[in-house]
Amino acid sequence: MTRGQWVQIEDRYRHRLGDPLSAKAKAHHLTSISSFFRDIQEWGWIPRRFDPRRSFAAPRSLRALIGPKPKVIATDIWAKLLWAGLNLEESDLTRHKNGKHFYPVLLVKALCIVWLFSGLRADEIRRLRVGCTRENWNTDSQSAQAAVCNLDVPVNKTSHAFTKPVDQIVGESIRAWEVERPVQPVAVDAKTGELVHFLFAYRSSRPGPDYINHSLVPILCRKAGVPLEDARGKITSHRARSTIASQLFNAKEPMSLFELQRWLGHKWANSTQHYLDITPTKLAQSFRSAGYFARNVRAIEVLIDREVVVRGEALHEPWNFYDLGHGYCSYDFFDQCPHRMACAKCGFYIAKGSSRAQLLEGKENLLRMRQEIPLNDAELAAVDDGVAALQKLLDQLENVATPDGATPRQLRASELVQIAEGNPDKSSAE
Ligand code: SF4
Repeated sequence: MTRGQWVQIEDRYRHRLGDPLSAKAKAHHLTSISSFFRDIQEWGWIPRRFDPRRSFAAPRSLRALIGPKPKVIATDIWAKLLWAGLNLEESDLTRHKNGKHFYPVLLVKALCIVWLFSGLRADEIRRLRVGCTRENWNTDSQSAQAAVCNLDVPVNKTSHAFTKPVDQIVGESIRAWEVERPVQPVAVDAKTGELVHFLFAYRSSRPGPDYINHSLVPILCRKAGVPLEDARGKITSHRARSTIASQLFNAKEPMSLFELQRWLGHKWANSTQHYLDITPTKLAQSFRSAGYFARNVRAIEVLIDREVVVRGEALHEPWNFYDLGHGYCSYDFFDQCPHRMACAKCGFYIAKGSSRAQLLEGKENLLRMRQEIPLNDAELAAVDDGVAALQKLLDQLENVATPDGATPRQLRASELVQIAEGNPDKSSAE
């Protein structure tokens, strides 16, 4: 199937006729057909010979194509739109035959600031009520820029009415319009059936559902000098929500997913994921902060006996000595020794107190270098958790052979001296 097949199509979508269906549309079609067969089975029109849920389930290959695809507006375009909104003037508004824009500039400006800063749905913006902003007395920041106020959001399609913090400028622009707003009769909120005073009403008329998309966005784009579309498609009222949510999520001190869920008025956290786009910079920053490489690599000091290297005897004589703190390991493949964190003191070990170690350190041509060694989880735990983990590591390595062949248990046993039992009577007589 392609777009426009088997349906009556509106003129405004005619230019997309014949385009391939999106993965989401295909999945929706399958769900609709499944519902249709479930219904007619339930009504007894056809016998229950198959399970429509299973037969019309979207295949995995199709489901893999469906996922969060937030249509965030490019940062540079969004910055220009913000500038245009903050500096909107009467001369920027479109004019009708009488030479005037239907709505007063203060109403349009307040509407524009709410759209640019509050992350509300177009329907929520249209249904805001007079007196919907309040000062937030908990603002502890001294900076005027960081000041926030509370905005009462009416019931929306997924959640009940709630209050969200927004920038002070939103409260200021709303209050400026409230001062100028002419007295008008109450109107019915179609969603709740209540009689209310809508904030954005003029001569008892509210901006239409498409006012933001068809009037406000083109006005702002014209003033900002940006196209009506970007790489992700047309700039629409709903894309502001994704853009603001993504900016809050990628901020230096970001809002958490659950805070954003609450701020956006979502019932489920997975809805919020559809609005968030993590920027490559933020991802790189978080990855860097996680310190994966630094966590897995520690530095160890190495002494290089250059004299041996220069003589060309490195093949037969030890030439690099890894500093273990209490002594040196002369094993070339120290980083592969399972005992390196809890050295078993095998034949490659040189105690620090020994004259050979002192000679090594004293040699002028020794180079002090650093070598990076990747550590495994047990070793990391030994470094991080201290003695208990080190003891555990020692126990684990008790019977693991060192590079010279002996296990730590055998090495310890060889240090003990067997005292021969003599005849006590004979010795006393002597
Ligand atoms: S057990 Fe031997 S090879 Fe392993 S670190 Fe100790 S001295 Fe080096």
